[in-house]
Amino acid sequence: MHEYDVVIVGARCAGSPLATMLAQAGLEVCIVDQARFPSDTLSTHLVQSHGVAILERLGIRDTLLDLGAVEIDHISLINDDVRIDGEAEPGDLPALCVRRVTLDDVLVKAAEAAGAEVRTSTRVTGMLRDDGRMVGVETGDGPIRARLVVGADGMRSSVAEWVGAREYHVVPGGRMFAVAYFDGVSDSAGHLRIGRVGDNAFIAAPADGLYMAGVGISISESQTFMADRDGSFDRGLRAWPELADLVAGSTRVGPIRMITEWHSFFREAAGPGWALVGDAGHFKDFTPGQGISDALRQVDHLAPAIVAGLAGDLDADLRHWWSWRDDDAWDMYWFASDLGSPGASTPLETRMMRNVSNHPDGARDLIKVFDHQISPWELFSTRRLVLASMQALVDRPGRIGPTLREIVTSAKEQRRREKVRPASVEPLRLPVSIATV
Ligand SMILES: Cc1cc2nc3c(=O)[nH]c(=O)nc-3n(C[C@H](O)[C@H](O)[C@H](O)COP(=O)(O)OP(=O)(O)OC[C@H]3O[C@@H](n4cnc5c(N)ncnc54)[C@H](O)[C@@H]3O)c2cc1C
Repeated sequence: MHEYDVVIVGARCAGSPLATMLAQAGLEVCIVDQARFPSDTLSTHLVQSHGVAILERLGIRDTLLDLGAVEIDHISLINDDVRIDGEAEPGDLPALCVRRVTLDDVLVKAAEAAGAEVRTSTRVTGMLRDDGRMVGVETGDGPIRARLVVGADGMRSSVAEWVGAREYHVVPGGRMFAVAYFDGVSDSAGHLRIGRVGDNAFIAAPADGLYMAGVGISISESQTFMADRDGSFDRGLRAWPELADLVAGSTRVGPIRMITEWHSFFREAAGPGWALVGDAGHFKDFTPGQGISDALRQVDHLAPAIVAGLAGDLDADLRHWWSWRDDDAWDMYWFASDLGSPGASTPLETRMMRNVSNHPDGARDLIKVFDHQISPWELFSTRRLVLASMQALVDRPGRIGPTLREIVTSAKEQRRREKVRPASVEPLRLPVSIATV
């Protein structure tokens, strides 16, 4: 039977760019997806600027712009009565909003053009094993042998289940999320809005010809929401008048897509003959819109590890990459969990956001946090947390007890996270960057 260098299960924002990079580096790659592209999937599809830089290197940013991807040049972060407005930094490629039905199709075509063998409408049903090592996959159309199997098959990864990859640092999902598109919204310029108003979270932005609006409500209210999707979604939007005004008079296009059951996790990401990348190996709260650019970022480091590993010690290089991934994702993982926690903003959170909005560099630094340029804990440093804690007590003199409890709980949680923080790891360096091969 023919043996590929790598078989990849899943062809969206993790699988296809990996296939492209590996094929560009001269490896023989087969990529398999049960979907037939163009194919949509639930996502609010904000690609952060550092992810856009990888799309640019892959040579597909211009194609996406031609297809209507919107460059985000203005970001508004709203936390009840606190508003932080920031502009894209000159010199950085702007973040992009592009619907997944567009993005994923372009990624698949790029993999094909780079020389990967792309098999869509093909479901992977199991793994091929030899003496404890993964040596390929079973599909409805027959087996595919490879020296390495990569699971890029999303948060409910079957590959992860088949190889027995364990989850760690698990955090239960905070909010369910419902997203829909609107036609005829006049505010189609590159303005992204992320809000937390009352108990609900919101995201809204234009994307290739339509306008996307999403509402997040506490996961404990999922049943009530689902009992009357349309009504609940409309009521959710109306809870943020700025968003309700924007979509008023426009027409909702297509279904309301929802996610009601999920959790955040790290998963063991490598073993004998296998690796997990993208959501298959790590899923974080989607509130700050990181998953796509994280997948691109992981792939950008995994590809050189695979190229080096197949010529040397593959298992060791994959383990190294896995350690790098944990280190790289750590700070954002907890920031995302905090940002997505259900319920209304607490006095401490409100005060922290107010201080960011009052600081001359606050908006710029917050955008840098979202773009993975600085750690959230540089902006929300211990010194700033202590100051905000004192101010929060003064802000709500009638609620000193609950505010103190929040401060203590938050400080304990930060200490717990610090204790289990993974070691800092340098990425594997190759003499030549893969994307320039
Ligand atoms: C509500 C919501 C909003 C989000 N908003 C954002 C955002 O604004 N910005 C952002 O960056 N991220 C966002 N994310 C996260 C983002 O969508 C994911 O991180 C991203 O899709 C991960 O890509 P992936 O390629 O790893 O997996 P997926 O996109 O899940 O792709 C997995 C692929 O594997 C295929 N597959 C699965 N099993 C098999 C099998 N057995 N055989 C063959 N094929 C298989 C599937 O068909 C699928 O095509 C959001 C997520 C949610 C839920």
